[in-house]
Amino acid sequence: MGIIRLMDEPLSNKIAAGEVVERPTSVVKELVENAIDAGSTAIEVLLVEAGLTSIQIIDNGAGMDSEDALLSFSRHATSKIANEHDLFRIRTLGFRGEALASIASVSKVTLHTSNGESGTFVHMEGGRLTEHRAGSLRKGTDIKIDQLFFNTPARLKYMKTLQTELGHSIDLLNRFALSYPGIAFKLVHDSRIILQTSGSGEIKRVLADIYGVAIAKKMIPFEGQSHDYKISGYASLPEITRANKNYISLFVNGRWVKHYAIANTVHKAYHTFLPLERQPIVVMNIEGDPYLTDVNVHPAKQQIRLSKEKELMELIHETLRRTISTVVRAPVIDKPK
Ligand code: ADP
Ligand code: MG
Repeated sequence: MGIIRLMDEPLSNKIAAGEVVERPTSVVKELVENAIDAGSTAIEVLLVEAGLTSIQIIDNGAGMDSEDALLSFSRHATSKIANEHDLFRIRTLGFRGEALASIASVSKVTLHTSNGESGTFVHMEGGRLTEHRAGSLRKGTDIKIDQLFFNTPARLKYMKTLQTELGHSIDLLNRFALSYPGIAFKLVHDSRIILQTSGSGEIKRVLADIYGVAIAKKMIPFEGQSHDYKISGYASLPEITRANKNYISLFVNGRWVKHYAIANTVHKAYHTFLPLERQPIVVMNIEGDPYLTDVNVHPAKQQIRLSKEKELMELIHETLRRTISTVVRAPVIDKPK
């Protein structure tokens, strides 16, 4: 008699949660991504104690019917991809079908959702269903996560100060707002509004909402295209500098990514315009065939692998350099003696 057995779903979900749900911000990220994928034009994020007490996301997207509302908490359940072909052409922010299952396994979840025809209410605790009934008909989804990590005390203990945790969520919402200027975002912490954007569609307005009008005025638009990629966004004039690369926001097909090589290329494009150790503020949207961008690298979906990386780097370097040169003459350093 063998000794190997298959784990039950609550156990395997908890293991997956270890990777997907690192901290309150990971929950905010997954739930806002779902709201965006559902076509929402207004998304509200309400945090209590930086999300450790509760995280609530209210959207006005497509909503779900009663059956889907239950299924959404099953692992590997997704409406976003159906086969391998889709996996290599991902146009949505989600695709792994594991966020809700993972989050529900380490918290208490209350879900109200409606597609406009039927309304559903679901309550789960530690991954187990405790209630499922008809609910409100308000179109969209309202999901609340209470007591994150209540059943994983080691993870809870690992949380940093509330200020640090909140800082991560503010940073995240800023990036969502920059990447989706057409969506009205509102972030509320302990009843205080932290960020509110209009959803007007103008990145410049979001820049003003986040960095202030004075900075937004010193950001100039750029655009460029190569065979496979299109880039656009805003770049700061050399008179504005920052101490680190946190102000370089990179979005690939709408997804905020952390990509060391691209951020480095952005920095290099400012060479001779900025003191070496200083960094610009840049918001860059990179668009290309999803086939060229592999997002299936890590469960958090923030790292990507790019095909034709060299072509993209050249495009970024040339576009930014051309844009900055039109407004300032580069001070000549490294002049031959
Ligand atoms: P994924 O986003 O990778 O598909 P999730 O676990 O995050 O996996 O969500 C599972 C499914 O639940 C989604 O594919 C979607 O169909 C549905 N869903 C989740 N959140 C929402 C929402 N806010 N509005 C509409 N549908 C949603
Ligand atoms: Mg998702």
